[in-house]
Amino acid sequence: MSATRHDCDLFVIGAGSGGVRAARASAGLGAKVMLAEDSRVGGTCVMRGCIPKKLLVLGAHFAEDFADARGFGWTLGAPTHDWNELIRRKNAELDRLEGVYRRILRESKVELIEARARVAGPNRVALGGRTVAAANILIATGGRPSLPDIPGIAYAITSNEALDLPACPGRVVIVGGGYIAVEFAGIFRSFGAEVTMVIRANQILRGFDDDVREALAAEMAKKGIHIFNDSIVESIGKTADGYTVRLPGGEQLDCDRVLYATGRAPNTEGLGLAEAGVKLGGQGEVAVDEYSRSSIPNIFAVGDVTDRMNLTPVALAEGMAVARTLFAGEATAMDYANVPTAVFSTPPVGTVGLTEAEAAQRGEIDVYVSSFTPLKHTLTGRAERTLMKLVVDRASQRVLGLHMVGADAPEIVQGFAVALKCGATKRDFDQTVGIHPTAAEEFVTMREK
Ligand code: NDP
Repeated sequence: MSATRHDCDLFVIGAGSGGVRAARASAGLGAKVMLAEDSRVGGTCVMRGCIPKKLLVLGAHFAEDFADARGFGWTLGAPTHDWNELIRRKNAELDRLEGVYRRILRESKVELIEARARVAGPNRVALGGRTVAAANILIATGGRPSLPDIPGIAYAITSNEALDLPACPGRVVIVGGGYIAVEFAGIFRSFGAEVTMVIRANQILRGFDDDVREALAAEMAKKGIHIFNDSIVESIGKTADGYTVRLPGGEQLDCDRVLYATGRAPNTEGLGLAEAGVKLGGQGEVAVDEYSRSSIPNIFAVGDVTDRMNLTPVALAEGMAVARTLFAGEATAMDYANVPTAVFSTPPVGTVGLTEAEAAQRGEIDVYVSSFTPLKHTLTGRAERTLMKLVVDRASQRVLGLHMVGADAPEIVQGFAVALKCGATKRDFDQTVGIHPTAAEEFVTMREK
């Protein structure tokens, strides 16, 4: 493949998960690829999302592990934690990962341009002083935290800052009840903070199965996380030693940090997209078809900037599909059915397929639910329960949804996602022999509807 009339076959804007995958895959298929990034190579997931967050979750969990160890006869001194050491080690790992990403791009022969890029026309990308001619353009600029405009919002931090605080706050108010909010609630609580969540809905994790939402909220309450439901913050004020969050009922929540996790917005501002004729949706997202193609046929977009299913593995798959569509001569659409997902809350959630409410709208269903004390906690005495749930289509007996709240839920659900992708029926589950004693075996031994 050659870029005769153009400087490159594909110009990618954004070196996050989707952009890097599309760039590498396209180069692997023989395309000449350029990629522009004006921040750290690796994007949200690697630099300020999934990876650093999971490292903090892993670090936080030791607090419960130390306490639980006593139930098995261990005697420990009072453990102490060095927050700065954790942040330093986490950041060193991020530096290493950024180096790996840069090396991979180099080895894939993708030309990395460290500059802010702007679309200057269907085949033109402006980079500071110069313009590059591109046969195709891929927008993979991701998203950023989106905060409501209320008095004092400038005092709030987002997940970006929460991953790099100089000290673990003693009292935190978290606004929002989605993935990021519940994950940080678990992290800060485990490190000893007083955590209060303020959510505008009546329950956390909108969109998840209702039993999952309730079970996680109950576990979070047991750990001492306080949740204000049906509440919208009116304003944030500064106090002598921190901040105060004002709620409509007149309540004031004093704290050291206010973390807003109220969703994310696509990064399309200043990219020149609308001017180039690219259609944007109501939230500023790039509107695309099933092949991630925008309203301009040679401009594509993948990942959070399209606001479809904002998950790293989905962006990777979308990026791969664009590479195949463009350079393997094979129009490839991403399949969004049965995409598993996890929330790294404490305890974590794993889920794949339909919620009970979604499945019930489509037809008659059978529901199997199990709630139990994991074997480990029979000795630790910790009052934590595990929830497992199967949603089954009554006529075909196909398993439509599988949900879990409890230790290792993300690891367990990943395996079962293969079964759902293959169209497994309840009978297939019943005929599968369990691994004893595990929590996961419960999924193949559920008999009572
Ligand atoms: P989410 O969309 O998951 O949640 C946003 C939360 O903020 C909801 O509880 C929402 O309430 C609330 N909210 C929105 N606007 C306001 C407002 N103006 N005032 C008060 N509350 C408000 O967003 P997150 O920021 O948590 O995460 C962004 C995305 O990142 C996720 O959707 C997910 O795709 C991805 N992500 C994935 C992770 C994973 O896979 N483990 C981890 C972290 C993020 P309501 O319910 O009423 O709408």
